[in-house]
Amino acid sequence: MKAVLIHRHGTLDQVRIEDIPTPPIRGGQALVQTRAAALNHLDLFVAEGIPGIKQQMPHVLGSDAAGIVRELGAGVDGLQVGDRVMLNPGIWCTECEFCQAGEQSLCVRYGLVGEHGPGVYSEFFAAPARNLARIPDGVTFEEAAAFSLVNLTAWRMVCTRGRLRPGEDVFVHGIGGGVATAALAIAKLAGARAWVSSSSPEKLDLARRLGADFRYDYTQCDVAREVYRKTNRRGVDLVVEGPGAATWLQSLKMVRKGGRIVTCGATTGPNPATEIRLIFWKQIDILGSTMGNQEEFAAIVRLLGRRRLLPCIDRVFDFEDATAALERLQSQRQFGKVVLRFDRDPS
Ligand SMILES: [Zn+2]
Repeated sequence: MKAVLIHRHGTLDQVRIEDIPTPPIRGGQALVQTRAAALNHLDLFVAEGIPGIKQQMPHVLGSDAAGIVRELGAGVDGLQVGDRVMLNPGIWCTECEFCQAGEQSLCVRYGLVGEHGPGVYSEFFAAPARNLARIPDGVTFEEAAAFSLVNLTAWRMVCTRGRLRPGEDVFVHGIGGGVATAALAIAKLAGARAWVSSSSPEKLDLARRLGADFRYDYTQCDVAREVYRKTNRRGVDLVVEGPGAATWLQSLKMVRKGGRIVTCGATTGPNPATEIRLIFWKQIDILGSTMGNQEEFAAIVRLLGRRRLLPCIDRVFDFEDATAALERLQSQRQFGKVVLRFDRDPS
């Protein structure tokens, strides 16, 4: 089968499409023929190399995919050959105290498909059946592939950890990024007022169409000061953090007294200057969040099925053009998800 892979870490010049053996499946697993996959910023980090995380080379990239079940290992219940399925890209042990409590993303051995194990930018992938959900009727492979990672992440951030209530104000940095765009959709679904920022007027305009109530070009103004002014020096209830270094101090300044900041990433750097006096004086709750549990995954798939929550797709590339797709993600010109399509006839 063909796969998008690297033999060594480096720039996107290292990305190749090569033939590798179709993965064997073990008990409890399914072999899925990939119909669509979706890119995440994580792919760029993995291609570059993440300090402290080793991949076995050659390493297949990719965390998000959807396709058709072609083979089942022993002991799989609830899935049939021919089912259309989408992947929860978490890897968990099922045995530790957190897995036993249903908190899979707290698993002591938690990892991600494509980072801590082989990825899914390949014509077939093997996955534990527990990681696969049936794609709801009427949802395309492209939509299903673009959905899981960012919506699971944003759902846990905004709803579970962030406890967003109707009528509250939520600020999302860097609209256009996958998690940020999902967080905007979830915030509107929750009945909140959404505040967003970007350096691109085009992205701010697209965000307006998705329901963003207040929009700021961070190259043109001091966003925290503007938020403070607009809220009559109150601040927002919840800040959805992902950039890290570039926005952290702004987040501390724009959140209200007793408000919450929830972080899932550090795309611009992990060690920003911070301001402890703001944290204690304003009594800010700083919350970490990573991916989500199985219950949360089932909840977002149900919302996808009812078309209450839909992925925002930027552009679909043919699988053969994976490097161009990764370059688009790297350029940060995208709004929403960059998707790969596997066009080979599935019959
Ligand atoms: Zn575990």
